[in-house]
Amino acid sequence: MQSFEKTSSHHVAALQATIEQYVDPQSGARHIHMANDAAEIAFLVAFPTVPDRSDGRAHILEHLALSGSERFPVRAPFFSMLRRSTATFMNAMTYADRTAYPFATTDEQDFFNLLDVYLDASFFPQLNYLDFLQEGWRHVFDGGKLAYQGVVFNEMKGAIADPMYALHHGIIAPLFAGTTYASASGGDPLAIPELTHAMLQDFHASHYHPSQAVFMSAGRIDAATIQARIATQVLARRNDTAPRRTPALAAAWDAPREQALRIPSQQARDDEYGLQLAWLLGEMADPLAYYSVHLLAAGLLGDAGAPLRAAMESAGFGRPSRMNGQDAGMRQMVFHLGMEGLTQPEVDAAQALILSTLERVAVEGVPVATLRAAMRDLRYQQRNTESSGTPFALRRMLQALPLSLYGGDVMHAFDNEATLAALDARIADPGFFKGLVRALLDNPTRLTSRVIPDADYFTARAATETARLAAQDAALSDADRARITQDSADLAAHQALPTDKTLLPRILPGDVSAQPRPVPTVPALAGNALQFTVASNGISYARAVYDLSHSAPADWPWLDLYVDLLPDLGVGDRDFAAADAWRQVLVPSFRVGLDTTLAPNGSLRIEVGFSASGLREEHAAIAEVLSTSILDARFDETERMAFLIERLVQNKLSGLAKAGRDYALLAAGAPLSPLRDFQNRITGTPSLPFYGALKKLAQTPEGLAHVAARLAAMHALVTAVVPTRMTAGAGDDGATLAQMLAAAPAFAAASAAAPVVGASEAPARAMAAANLALHATGQVNHCVIAWPAPRVGHPDAPALAVAAELMGAALLHQALREKGGAYGGFASYSSEGGMFSMSTFRDPRLAATYADFAAALHAIAHDDFSDEQVEEAIISVIKGLDKPLSPYGDAITAWQLQRRGITMEVRQQFRTGVLTCTLARIREAVTTWLTPGAASRAAFVGDASGDLDGLALVDLVALAGQE
Ligand SMILES: [Zn+2]
Repeated sequence: MQSFEKTSSHHVAALQATIEQYVDPQSGARHIHMANDAAEIAFLVAFPTVPDRSDGRAHILEHLALSGSERFPVRAPFFSMLRRSTATFMNAMTYADRTAYPFATTDEQDFFNLLDVYLDASFFPQLNYLDFLQEGWRHVFDGGKLAYQGVVFNEMKGAIADPMYALHHGIIAPLFAGTTYASASGGDPLAIPELTHAMLQDFHASHYHPSQAVFMSAGRIDAATIQARIATQVLARRNDTAPRRTPALAAAWDAPREQALRIPSQQARDDEYGLQLAWLLGEMADPLAYYSVHLLAAGLLGDAGAPLRAAMESAGFGRPSRMNGQDAGMRQMVFHLGMEGLTQPEVDAAQALILSTLERVAVEGVPVATLRAAMRDLRYQQRNTESSGTPFALRRMLQALPLSLYGGDVMHAFDNEATLAALDARIADPGFFKGLVRALLDNPTRLTSRVIPDADYFTARAATETARLAAQDAALSDADRARITQDSADLAAHQALPTDKTLLPRILPGDVSAQPRPVPTVPALAGNALQFTVASNGISYARAVYDLSHSAPADWPWLDLYVDLLPDLGVGDRDFAAADAWRQVLVPSFRVGLDTTLAPNGSLRIEVGFSASGLREEHAAIAEVLSTSILDARFDETERMAFLIERLVQNKLSGLAKAGRDYALLAAGAPLSPLRDFQNRITGTPSLPFYGALKKLAQTPEGLAHVAARLAAMHALVTAVVPTRMTAGAGDDGATLAQMLAAAPAFAAASAAAPVVGASEAPARAMAAANLALHATGQVNHCVIAWPAPRVGHPDAPALAVAAELMGAALLHQALREKGGAYGGFASYSSEGGMFSMSTFRDPRLAATYADFAAALHAIAHDDFSDEQVEEAIISVIKGLDKPLSPYGDAITAWQLQRRGITMEVRQQFRTGVLTCTLARIREAVTTWLTPGAASRAAFVGDASGDLDGLALVDLVALAGQE
């Protein structure tokens, strides 16, 4: 059956791929295929989802589509496939106007297994009523009182803990009034209970149709083979047509408007007001408009010397908003400019400052070098194969997806060179940028939001929910009560049913390679330097690493502050603004970081790394930036430091609830692992008093002098070390760049000296286990329990890795997510950190969750599990080991493994141990290591008035010394 017709084919050299476009004339279904030689084969199916209310229908449908389908009528096939597949990526995402179901794998058999499951899930889901109750929302009786429960309901309570969520939605909704963007696409927990099961079924029927669908694929696979599957499994059954759904355009305004906007705040201090200006702009599918807005943001805000950012940072009040710049998440783009950290009287001054600066730039323009650097960054991004979790091809496909759904030309997402060339010519004209700014000023569709911090934001929402429930409770008839009780019983019975997964395809331990994934050979160090040759697609990398393992624990927070602030301070004769502009012109990427690993003897290795990367044509610039930034770093701009510290402390405070799970994970792990202990000290609970004290220091000249002296001392500590230099690039590029670095002033003198090797001894660890309830205001909890465990190389390590997967799949998912309502329930073994943990994410419960952890521990040691369950757990571990990395990522990993003492033999032993693991081995390892007495517990609690299960309460806000 051949239905798709090819409409175009283009080779894109920068992507090393050919983009083929197809359409099925009957239904109008689109297929875009990216033919390339990558290790991964990727696929996605997507639909426009344009709800007109905030009841979360698109998001809950996404959850339900993955909960069982006609051909695969098993419970949670998506979660089952996570363990029956060697997929390197499996996900489903609901955006403001679309839903996408992507996956990637390296194995062709696995690809077609997953394709079958994904096609059936999206086009023919069961949309079972009981799954709707579990994943969406339901009424329950909690201690006799009516309450809400449900996975998405709790997931969204967690999502809105971030003040940026309320800020963004509070601006987008009025600006896009009358369109799908005015509703909360993920679902507002106060509106979710308005959604019925029937409404959800209707939404699926009207939105998940072949005529709406966009299929995308990538890899060493024939497009026709994929199309044949789509034709037989989908098109043959649904060959009618329906008009395509495209999000409506928002109406332009005659004149700017204003509003007051309340956002959640832990304390609502009088310096937490803000001002946001938002303009409605052209369509993001128009490439010239899209990149022009990108350039507008780069010219106004791109570096510390850019006029608008400089004006806001040196205003003497407040700081730039974290939401500034281009927002291309909707069909029409939005441009945001704003300030935060204001007192109420400063709000008007902020508006005047922004508008007067725009007026000035509309007359004066910006240096063309700034715009050229922005163009260079766009070309760097086009070549960049580094991926943060999402495979490269999928990332490009997800970028192309909105263009397809908005009726644009997807080729612009794969090949932007023609557009960039057109802009190269335009930016040379000084009138071009001035014109962009003038158009912004003249645009009447502008919303001014006066942002008000609201400490009662969540309590008010909780009160609304409680009042609503009380009214509903009072109005319930006996029949209503009986139905709710019956629903709960039916759901519990449904959740307890054994799932027959035999219908689902799977990959067996015997199907995967017995050998570890090969990693590149690490070249020998020569004169403290090593060079990698990597297929980098024309990007070159350099890194200078300073071993600070000998530093004192009291210095660690200061070292962390040093790496945070250094890139935002001056260099030599240049002040911070000039330095940032200088660096921006030279390289697309410059970073300073603090990294930790464990040396083979178990001691903590602490390193400060300076890295830069750029196009291969710019080797000299990479070497210059690294050398000069290190050699000429300066720590005398105290006013700038005060500004940066204020921003750092405020971000830390407003992010407390959002980062709640990280605080809990670090607090529970710190007593067990030197790696977690280090992280906890610099970013966890113990860092809060440091930040509180830092904020006070930043308020006086004497305090700032002290900070400046400490940072200078850290710099002296760093530069006293002889660094190891690493370079990487295509062909001889790594070697060429290495020669330039060796000759650069910061490294020339040290090249002959021996590097300082981490000298600390393996620490004797005797810290008391944690037992903490960490509190900041929010609507959900995150619970963690952890144990010390052996590291990789120990004979029990493979069994612990498999045990974590088995516990997660066979016990925790059901108890914590399906029944408990938490968004996630996990077990995890860290072979590097030497730790085993169980945890929840966005959890409505606490004491009951810890009881479930204890029950899971008992079950894993005593209950029976099938061979199939153990095999699935084995496949889950192997999947993690075999995930392909970018060529540069591979080189860095090989180097890290070598320095951690993890040889090919150790990796082989671990892999063999995993592949041959048995239930008996799992029980033995779990009984040996996960003893109740050794457990360390920490939870983040959004509401401290409930049962804390004996955890000692710590008020995070008070700890930061902010009251
Ligand atoms: Zn979700």
